[in-house]
Amino acid sequence: MLILIPHRAAETLRGAGPWGRLTLRIDRPEGRAVVAGISQRGNGIIPVDPDLRSRLLSSCDTTPTGYWYRASAELHAIWIELRKRCNTATALDIFKAHVPSGFKAPGAEGYLALTHAPGMQDAFPEHHLPDLLAWHITPTQAVPLAVSAEPATTGIQQLDGHWPTQRLQQTRVMLIGTGSIGSATAHALAGYGVGHLTLVDPDRLDWHNLVRHTSARQHIGRLKVDALAEELAALRPDTVTAPLALNVITDADRIRALLTDTDLAVCTADGVAARRVTGHLARRAGLTAVLACVLNDGAIGEIMRLRPRPGHGCLTCRRQHLIEAGGIDPEPALDAGYGTGTPHRPMTAVGPDLHLVAHLAAKTAVASILERAGHPDQRLPGEHALIALRRQPDWAPPFDLARTTELRWLPASPPQNGCPTCETP
Ligand SMILES: [Zn+2]
Repeated sequence: MLILIPHRAAETLRGAGPWGRLTLRIDRPEGRAVVAGISQRGNGIIPVDPDLRSRLLSSCDTTPTGYWYRASAELHAIWIELRKRCNTATALDIFKAHVPSGFKAPGAEGYLALTHAPGMQDAFPEHHLPDLLAWHITPTQAVPLAVSAEPATTGIQQLDGHWPTQRLQQTRVMLIGTGSIGSATAHALAGYGVGHLTLVDPDRLDWHNLVRHTSARQHIGRLKVDALAEELAALRPDTVTAPLALNVITDADRIRALLTDTDLAVCTADGVAARRVTGHLARRAGLTAVLACVLNDGAIGEIMRLRPRPGHGCLTCRRQHLIEAGGIDPEPALDAGYGTGTPHRPMTAVGPDLHLVAHLAAKTAVASILERAGHPDQRLPGEHALIALRRQPDWAPPFDLARTTELRWLPASPPQNGCPTCETP
């Protein structure tokens, strides 16, 4: 049995008087239990559960289970020694000798006990011994039990000092498109510690999405943004999400208003039109946009970073520039309207290939934010990345990637004359 002590329970135990009673929720088949309530001496038991979202074993009953005691640091050193020797027990008299007050004699079945040794750091400064431990007390013995107390710091804050978590927690990213690439992009952005994510997609999760999407079958029929927001709340609680069932093309006015409160826009929506509109709205708002898609039925992943700089052309100008240089337009047939009833086009791309593109898009977005915030070690090699998911040697340059996973970064290309996006209105 592993005894779990959530942070609030641990803090209550550390601050309470020399002994008390316990309630736990116990999951016997999986061999784990979580502390749910604590009393001071023989007084009433006070719940120490975290909020419902963070609560463990919430479907198990809460049962009075044993006692907790203030104990000496030496008792915890004994616990460590016993665990090293594969759970041999110590005599009950030894346990009692290290518990100054309140010890209760066990019945025939025994009970679970927690011990708090406040002097651990002073007594054994070099050993980092835990100040909260668990035991099974029988009529003759005290058996050490596995225990895990929640540390004071969890979540993205754990990376403070190693990763600019505080800067990213203040960052607001709008993600347009929460399909197979977008859902994985959202998870990656949250994993990097982006504090605010606006999720924009009008679509609902459908059966055929499951094979590539991060959402599970239980969410079928729900808005993709709502399913994703719920998953992120459980998995990455440091990221606040705002799910919006909007279409970037038909609801462009709403999106434009929201961009005034956004640091960077990412578009992973189906179809070139959605990416073109995202690039246009971001440019007008003075923001960087990161556009991600796959080309040629999933053979190549493409990430385009559009920064609002004088010499940097938009998506359309970029495509036109490559055609004029003797290349191709890699997505001429994808001009069909976004969300206009276009039937699902089965792609050959497999989920993890799309997620690879998604993670590269999220990294591009986060690196762009950090470079601007004074982190030159996050500078990217270019503005336009192509990654081969299958080798593509017969395509025109720069899409002629010769080997799978080959990654090619290209510079920005200049705006074309008369471009409605690139020319200042
Ligand atoms: Zn342009």
